[in-house]
Amino acid sequence: MKVGVARETAHGERRVALVPEALGKLTAAGLEILVEAGAGAGALIPDQAFSEAGATVVSTADLYATADVILRIQKPSADEVALLRTGQAVVGLLQPLLDPALAARLAAAGVTAISLDAIPRTLSRAQTMDALSSQANTGGYKAVLIAATTYGRYFPLLTTAAGTAKPANVLILGIGVAGLQAIGTARRLGAVVSAYDVRPETAEQAESLGAKFVKLRTSIDATGAGGYARELTADERAAQQAELNEVIAGQDVVITTAQVPGRKPPLLVTADAVRAMRPGSVIVDMAASALGGNCELSVAGETTVTANGVTIVAPENLPASMPLSASQFYARNISALLLNMVKDGALQLDFEEEVTRATVITHGGAVVSEPVQQLLAPAGGNA
Ligand code: NAD
Repeated sequence: MKVGVARETAHGERRVALVPEALGKLTAAGLEILVEAGAGAGALIPDQAFSEAGATVVSTADLYATADVILRIQKPSADEVALLRTGQAVVGLLQPLLDPALAARLAAAGVTAISLDAIPRTLSRAQTMDALSSQANTGGYKAVLIAATTYGRYFPLLTTAAGTAKPANVLILGIGVAGLQAIGTARRLGAVVSAYDVRPETAEQAESLGAKFVKLRTSIDATGAGGYARELTADERAAQQAELNEVIAGQDVVITTAQVPGRKPPLLVTADAVRAMRPGSVIVDMAASALGGNCELSVAGETTVTANGVTIVAPENLPASMPLSASQFYARNISALLLNMVKDGALQLDFEEEVTRATVITHGGAVVSEPVQQLLAPAGGNA
């Protein structure tokens, strides 16, 4: 079976789905690897490094014409969808819950779509395939570095002959994978870190990394299915907001990472809360995208400074700003997922198997993922 690695075409994307070090495991399983010319360029991996690792570097046309499976990071563009053929499979972070229409198009084209963001994350066997975690990890780390370089003061307590610098107060909102990495990174830089999440189990995790868990007077337990949070009710949101505003006002740096799967990110830092912050404070909104962010004033992809001197950084794709590490981890994730579905050198989908059932979104000309089918059903309203 021929496995192709696509060159990413999304704006600002610098990652690549496989790195040369990851090829050995795949070729040992009898797979032949094709790499689209320039696929590694964003991560500064030359084509030659792929060929030396045993891959064949091919043109875009050859990749789509000959590969049985195409590995990628981001979902294919409309032009790339047009190049895909019946019987071909595409594996990547396809976001079928946010873009069910793409799933419908891939199904109509007879393409098998396999989405890494749909793996059952609490299944321990699937941890090596968890690209959401590996990418969130790089994002959480980078968000803190951006905050530290944007903030005009020191993060650590510093005593020198010229005086003493107070440590920065850093608040992390959302204690998932990115939030935990952000806590650890901010602590290593010497900041005083506090953190908040709507899943109570995260308190212990935050504290074990040296952060103070922010306990609101209104107790909210929004633990949802699969270890994720559920969306808050309007009453819960109002109670949370009022109390969070007080906490935010005292912070030098706020890093927001809160997400609810398949939904608009929750609003945690209102315009009023930003207005109450001191000049020189920094907000890094990791949840910012075209859907909105955790901060009401975020502009996705941009850095803005408010009238009261608060800098709001809203990077759209932090993992792409660490393309080598992010690609290295992603390559392990996607290889593990692929090898889980390969028997005797060919893709063999066993829908009785939990990871296959969850991640195969389209197959045999149909959308086979139930959550995506529901979104596409007329009553779902998203088709
Ligand atoms: P995520 O990106 O979906 O969300 C980030 C965080 O935002 C979550 O902790 C969530 O609770 C929080 N959040 C959502 N709404 C909020 C609100 N209104 N206010 C404050 N915080 C809010 O989460 P993630 O990082 O992808 O992690 C999701 C879950 O998956 C976690 O429980 C994580 O531990 C779990 N996980 C488990 C495994 C495993 O068991 N092997 C592996 C990876 C992740």
